[in-house]
Amino acid sequence: MKYSDLLNITQEYGNPVYVYDAEKIISQFNRLTNAFKTVKKLKLNYAAKALSNLTILRLMNNLGSGLDTVSIQEVKLGLLAGFKPESIIYTPNGVSLEEIEEAAALGVRINIDNLSILEQFGSKHPDIPVCVRINPHVMAGGNSNISVGHIDSKFGVSIHQIPHLLRIVELTKMTINGIHMHTGSDILDIDVFLYASEILFETAKNFKELEFIDFGSGFKVPYKDGDIETNIEELGEKLSKRFNEFCKEYGRELTLAFEPGKFLVSEAGYFLAKVNVVKQTTSTVFASVDSGFNHLIRPMLYGANHQIINISNPKGRERYYSVVGYICETDTFANNRRINEISEGDILCFKNAGAYCFTMASNYNSRYRPAEVLWHKGQPVLIRERETFDDLIKNQIDVKDLFEAKNQKAAVK
Ligand SMILES: *Cc1c(COP(=O)(O)O)cnc(C)c1O
Repeated sequence: MKYSDLLNITQEYGNPVYVYDAEKIISQFNRLTNAFKTVKKLKLNYAAKALSNLTILRLMNNLGSGLDTVSIQEVKLGLLAGFKPESIIYTPNGVSLEEIEEAAALGVRINIDNLSILEQFGSKHPDIPVCVRINPHVMAGGNSNISVGHIDSKFGVSIHQIPHLLRIVELTKMTINGIHMHTGSDILDIDVFLYASEILFETAKNFKELEFIDFGSGFKVPYKDGDIETNIEELGEKLSKRFNEFCKEYGRELTLAFEPGKFLVSEAGYFLAKVNVVKQTTSTVFASVDSGFNHLIRPMLYGANHQIINISNPKGRERYYSVVGYICETDTFANNRRINEISEGDILCFKNAGAYCFTMASNYNSRYRPAEVLWHKGQPVLIRERETFDDLIKNQIDVKDLFEAKNQKAAVK
């Protein structure tokens, strides 16, 4: 997208605003699909929690993606956006049996991540096949050694519990149709990922009726120049080869599934905010934008480094700034960042704002959540209106006479 297109969008729809480039989403989807072209059955299930706007979900559905969901509400959003129930996989963690049953009744695929629920679900619904989330206890060490730590993770059924898992399956006569892993950490070392995959293949041999093996996600995308990203092409080549070999050994063509969130939408997103104040202090220059962690919390929550560009003055000389928000709380987006000279009224563009940005927004400080715009075939399309005051008070019950004198006397009596 051109900076002038982004500036025009702030003029048309106001600021702050999120903008998503449909073309970038499509090219990332195609890139991942291409990397695994030698696998006969590949299924990408977009992780809805990264960016769950209905129009984005429709775009994914249109591309042939499935949907990975982590709550019953995401399941319902997916159905509303036109996904067939069988294209949705429900991968919750720590939710109630009732919620899993509700999802199963809607016809979506179920992924269970603990033995307690597996036993209860299998006992009540032996005819509904389920996938099991496995924790392979593999994680990349600092020097790319393989460490088998990660025992503190709350996710998945430990590989050391496979005997118990098999016992539950045998006793309940339930069917396991898939096995899954998602370690949640970035794939930076492909060999470590392949090592975890071997554990998954080994586990898979215990189940005779598998339809798919789901390798989760963790594809790392670059946030700034020089960042390491997952080498998708190398991963695709190596894992595809091993997967195809495994299918031969297993005796059936299985589906290779992934659940990318960040990889598909992160780089497609831009967050645009206006500089309200440039403030020179004794030690730094602050640029305060009309936003804060109520709109984009990743820098404050886990130190995410979003590149910031002054699109109102992209050729100006560079100076050091601390970019902060307007929330009454420390809400620093960036410290000591070199940015083209900023004047009050300029529009700053935060890059990589597609994944886990809008979906983590809140109404803190009673501010409105921003509008969302999709850039599609060279045109902006509004896909979410900016909130209004009515949205802030929508669910509140303003009990007007609760504190009136007559009621207080009644309460005392
Ligand atoms: C969040 C999540 C993903 C997506 O992770 P990304 O890093 O955004 O690709 C995939 N699978 C599960 C189960 C998740 O919880």
